[in-house]
Amino acid sequence: MSSTARPPEMTDGFHLIVDALRLNDLSTIYGLVGIPITDVARAAQARGMRFIGFRQEQAAGHAAAAAGFLTRRPGVCLTVSAPGFLNGLVALANATTNCFPMIQISGSSEREIVDLQQGDYEELDQLAAARPFAKAAFRVDRPEDIGAGVARAIRGAVSGRPGGVYLDLPAKVLGATIDAEVGRASLFKAVDPAPSQLATPESIDRALRLLAGAERPLIVLGKGAAYAQADEELRELVESTGIPFLPMSMAKGLLPDDHPQSAAAARSLVLKDADVVILVGARLNWLLAHGRAPRWSAECRFIQVDISPEEIDSNRPIAAPVVADVKAATRQLLAALRPGQITPRRAWLDAIDAKKTENVQRMQARLAADAAPMNFYGALRAIRDVLAEQDGTFVVNEGANTLDFGRDILPMHEPRKRLDCGTWGVMGVGMGYAIAAAVESGRSVVAVEGDSAFGFSGMELETICRYELPIVVVVFNNGGVYKGDEVNRFSSDPAPTALLRTSRYDKLIEAFGGAGYYAADPETVASSLREALASRKPALVDCVIDPTAGTESGHLTDLNPQSPLRPA
Ligand code: ADP
Ligand code: MG
Repeated sequence: MSSTARPPEMTDGFHLIVDALRLNDLSTIYGLVGIPITDVARAAQARGMRFIGFRQEQAAGHAAAAAGFLTRRPGVCLTVSAPGFLNGLVALANATTNCFPMIQISGSSEREIVDLQQGDYEELDQLAAARPFAKAAFRVDRPEDIGAGVARAIRGAVSGRPGGVYLDLPAKVLGATIDAEVGRASLFKAVDPAPSQLATPESIDRALRLLAGAERPLIVLGKGAAYAQADEELRELVESTGIPFLPMSMAKGLLPDDHPQSAAAARSLVLKDADVVILVGARLNWLLAHGRAPRWSAECRFIQVDISPEEIDSNRPIAAPVVADVKAATRQLLAALRPGQITPRRAWLDAIDAKKTENVQRMQARLAADAAPMNFYGALRAIRDVLAEQDGTFVVNEGANTLDFGRDILPMHEPRKRLDCGTWGVMGVGMGYAIAAAVESGRSVVAVEGDSAFGFSGMELETICRYELPIVVVVFNNGGVYKGDEVNRFSSDPAPTALLRTSRYDKLIEAFGGAGYYAADPETVASSLREALASRKPALVDCVIDPTAGTESGHLTDLNPQSPLRPA
């Protein structure tokens, strides 16, 4: 008797990984195809996901990390094995350092050959290599475990302190077929992967008691506060207490930079003289001089709102730790706050205002002085003026001097619209961050790039043009790392900090069909940027800066030791 049963419908690892991501509402993959993951990208497109293909995995990884920061869902980066995996690892480590949720998924070679080091194609023990650089790392060894692997990766990336998670998928698992019904049943949606974490009432009381006794209080907002999307709560905390606030660079715009309580233009003064500081999603790391004298007062006492209990006391003893997520903790603080309980002294607010006025006037004078050839001030003034006409435009900013000046001169008015070098001060994030901002939001992006910084990911101009993204890259072309005027006195080779002075970065984007602009004065910078933004098409403005402008290491000269034998 012949059976009439139809053969079972089958699925495979390629489709299961895509189905697992989709089931968890992840809709975009940033990556670069090759052995063994090309069909993952194809399956993703076939199932309605977006695949954004890059020219190098590091930029794809940076894009995934930025997507995670902007959306609070892990950005996904897909890479091939060994070298592609390693290229992505820089971004995974950077995401973990910056507390951005992302998942790097890499294909890998045959376990039994890798483990015996028998020389497989792209042989590398990727799981072991990823572990020190990731918040968590997993390998899936059976197709029916893909669902669990994805759920664990998502939870790892977004719960508690967010970070980068590595997920290793051997080629054999991707190619393995199983019954489609069994496959479907193995997938599930992670429930509440980033649960709200409340502070204990005692920690809230302790913090408020400390604040109530403060004469010169200060709120420091970090990118953890930006990530928490507690914009309304934080505004209420600032405005109802009257406490001045200082935004870290990626927290700029949580409250607008021109808010009367912003102490950004009196940064040195508030660090030195504050007596009680509330850190909100900001670490007392090198970017805040580790909380130590002489930049801070030795008597200053700290309240720290952070989701990570281990962060507390990392640099300076914290008088009032509030371990919770920023949104929950801020709500709890507001609920417990009594009217009039916190009263910053008038003299403190006046001292800050006086310092702000002085510093703002000094900056205005520098911005107004029309130096020829153009310097950072002239170029950034032009960009600032054009951005003031825009709503919802993202600013990506990397470089040394270009970053330092850009942070101070380009004001932000909206939350999470500024993406920059972050905790490591890393270069090479620019194009990836810009692409993610455009893809995730559909809004325009202006990437303000040092010429050296741009070089790390410049080939992604082709990606920007291929996906027709509304990104304008402004390259601050001063012909060098830091500056372009160093001359090697020992041979005909260029000096270590020199780049080609005759470079025309605008020609690069023209090769891919984008619009190139060449601007040697502020008026041309402004008109080029205005036209490029209006077109919503890919563009690059080669912004020619005086090669003598800028300083070595930007504002970080104290971190850069100099040889006593260095030629004058
Ligand atoms: P910045 O460089 O802006 O000062 P950091 O990256 O140093 O910011 O600090 C961010 C901090 O925010 C980290 O210590 C991280 O644990 C914390 N954090 C991240 N997300 C949240 C959240 N939702 N709630 C509370 N803290 C958070
Ligand atoms: Mg330069």
